[in-house]
Amino acid sequence: MDGLMMDDFPLTLTHVVQRTERLFPRVAISSRSPDGTIRRTDYAGVIRRARRLARVLREGGIEPGDRVGTLMWNHSRHLEAYLGVPASGAVVHTLNLRLSPEQLAYVIHHGGDKWILVDDNLLPLLARIRDRINPKRIVVVPSAGGLVPTGYDDYEYLLSQHEPLDPLPALSERQAAGLCYTSGTTGRLKGVLYSHRSIVLHSLVGASTLDLRQSDAALVVVPMFHANAWGLPYILTTLGSRIVLPGRQLDPESLLDLMEQERVTYAAGVPSIWTGLLETLERDPRRWTLTPGLRMLVGGSAVPEAMIRRFAALGIDVIHGYGMTESSPLVAVNIPKEGMRDWEPDRLFPLRARQGLGGAFVELRLRAEEREQPWDGKSVGELELRGPWIARAYFQDNDPEKWTLDGWMRTGDIATIDPEGYVQIVDRSKDLVKSGGEWISSVALENALVAHPAVREAAVVAKPDPKWSERPIAFVVLRDGSVATPDELRGFLAPQFPKWWLPDEVRFVAELPKTSTGKVSKLTLRQGLGPSGPT
Ligand code: ADP
Repeated sequence: MDGLMMDDFPLTLTHVVQRTERLFPRVAISSRSPDGTIRRTDYAGVIRRARRLARVLREGGIEPGDRVGTLMWNHSRHLEAYLGVPASGAVVHTLNLRLSPEQLAYVIHHGGDKWILVDDNLLPLLARIRDRINPKRIVVVPSAGGLVPTGYDDYEYLLSQHEPLDPLPALSERQAAGLCYTSGTTGRLKGVLYSHRSIVLHSLVGASTLDLRQSDAALVVVPMFHANAWGLPYILTTLGSRIVLPGRQLDPESLLDLMEQERVTYAAGVPSIWTGLLETLERDPRRWTLTPGLRMLVGGSAVPEAMIRRFAALGIDVIHGYGMTESSPLVAVNIPKEGMRDWEPDRLFPLRARQGLGGAFVELRLRAEEREQPWDGKSVGELELRGPWIARAYFQDNDPEKWTLDGWMRTGDIATIDPEGYVQIVDRSKDLVKSGGEWISSVALENALVAHPAVREAAVVAKPDPKWSERPIAFVVLRDGSVATPDELRGFLAPQFPKWWLPDEVRFVAELPKTSTGKVSKLTLRQGLGPSGPT
């Protein structure tokens, strides 16, 4: 017998937009402008303009399902597009401004973007590939306040000429709402097409899983052009929380100034952003007055235990999160269970450095050699996922290897899960170092290296080896003014690992190559080791 509830009520962003507009109109949205000033608006303002945008799109010939690209920094007009494009029935396709011109042209072309909304200061990126893309219109957002060149549409002018779309069109919850491409850390770019339903469910579960509240003021440093900024624009809009957007100023001092001025209570970004911020804070801890109880969501690559400890010493609570573009992206978040916060630091911090517990409705399993592995904290396998916000296919692309025959998505990440359910990512399968038939976790070595006081950043990759097939080699960036020798660092690692895990070589470098999303590009490091290097 079926239940007698309104199960057909559609889970669409339309509902989120309407509710927040009504209940939280005066909650502030702050954005840093290119000239450094802070622009403040609120949900009423953003949503009114999102409705105008929806009308501009509809009257401009954008049909339901059409893709509208955005090439923008994190600011309130980008949020307008996040809300207004899907509310019109179209699909918001966030374009990663750090892609190479070839990659950018590829995703615009492959995504089939009909219109592109672009920040005026990013127009040169589009101009470079103008002859390789074919959008019907390019609409320039005058973020930096310049004049819109001829041949382009002016976002502000278009908005001023259109009334807010009211009522918003009725949509099906299965309709596509967003498109993001994977950043290509490990290969070709692939599109992930989110539905209204997947975004709404991800927002509802995400809000509680991430320990967010309506009263939070959240600084979204993670780019809105990557994995929907971890879904935060939608999660925060659903909650009606304050949103603080840093624009393009991502240096530690600008971020800290913003955190202080806007009384930020929650901040989200990748570890490489927080590394610099941490050093700046430690150098001058009294310069900024940050909100007591500040929480920081860190993910996208493994967060070293040393980083969590150092932030804790400054009174900042790091929440480690794990996910990927294909999973909207939230998979696991590390919130200690009842009683665990009382553990001794040497027990608690290693736990907090794990990637955490699978969120509600995300099913996890570990598989190795076709067999499911137990959750015993020791057995290692590839992590596979199933759930309502996990991709079941790529957008107009075929990758049969990515999904198992029984319908689980393969993450490409090698992990353990302990009996309490805490996931620990050992490595990406492509980054594991396979030495003499055994594997070595590059992540474990990196995390141990950054615990050395002289080390700022570290990356370990496989170097081809005639005898052992591969051997680990470490690339290390030292902290300003610090010195260390390869032997000293190997000696530092020695008590923590089997001897054969220790890197054969430690190379000091001024910086590590980064991908378009700020992760260390191991592909580039491996390629630098010679043409015979594995890819
Ligand atoms: P790309 O694969 O192009 O980098 P994503 O940003 O979607 O694109 O990356 C997702 C991957 O990033 C995951 O599969 C995993 O390998 C890695 N990752 C994300 N968060 C973490 C984390 N907290 N710890 C370790 N690895 C992580």
